[in-house]
Amino acid sequence: MNAPACRACGSRRTTLRGTRRGRTRPTEFSFHDCADCGLLFVEPFAGFALYDDAYYRGQGPDPFVDYETEYRDWRATDRRLELADLHRLAAAHLRRQAGTGPVRWLDFGCGAGALLKYLRDQRTIGGRPLELAGHDVGSYADLLRDRDGFRILDLEQIATEPAGTFDIVSMIEVIEHLPAPLDPVRAIARLLRPGGLLLLTTGNLDCPVARRQGLDFAYCVPEIHVSLFNPAALGWLYRAAGLEPRNVRYRGALHFKVLKNLRFRPGLRFAARALLALPPVVRLIDGLYGVSAMPCAVKPSASS
Ligand SMILES: [Zn+2]
Repeated sequence: MNAPACRACGSRRTTLRGTRRGRTRPTEFSFHDCADCGLLFVEPFAGFALYDDAYYRGQGPDPFVDYETEYRDWRATDRRLELADLHRLAAAHLRRQAGTGPVRWLDFGCGAGALLKYLRDQRTIGGRPLELAGHDVGSYADLLRDRDGFRILDLEQIATEPAGTFDIVSMIEVIEHLPAPLDPVRAIARLLRPGGLLLLTTGNLDCPVARRQGLDFAYCVPEIHVSLFNPAALGWLYRAAGLEPRNVRYRGALHFKVLKNLRFRPGLRFAARALLALPPVVRLIDGLYGVSAMPCAVKPSASS
């Protein structure tokens, strides 16, 4: 069998790392490393049809998905810790920029809308009013547009929106679901104004835990996580789209990731909450999972 072409850079210099059965389907999926850009990609792509209502209830390959609660009452979910962290990181970036007037923020892959709702509640960032837009497909995107009045862009609007529209674009745990990950990052790079920030999170396949566990790493769910990155591969993707990697240090997002994974273990959650109050514990977890090692990106100013 010929080596499959890399789904980010198109290179044929790809090698089979291993195979793993799907979590909810018996298919044997193969994981391929790209020698040129560093992407680890999954074949075959299981398609987008599995993102149905059962998936959004946590009955698909990811038991931690709970769109219903997140849509209805995001304040009751652990995600609020991550949302506040993203707001903090964006505010810190904006403080270093000259700028007045509204801050335009696009949440690409807005899901059940928790980040949009959080930002709407905040109303401002760094003293400037927030203007919000989201992008997603499916029933929750319709609800956010029709019932909640958010501006939800479809892919056609993403392609035709004027260049340089947004100060901040967030893409939270989205890119690993996309079989052709360069296309959306190029679209986002076009939409960012010079100096604008892309806040992107995805798992780090080069972190100590992943290196130890190999394809048994919990993030390797081949039905849904089809494009897997490490810091170098993500840096390659940004540069290919005309962006510059920029590291940030996460805090609340780390708390969220730990508590989310303990959702069904209340005793451990209680202990984790106490431990997460200790900064060295947070730094240890950040090191083990390589969360802050995964860069975000900035659109260079025209002169630089
Ligand atoms: Zn590649």
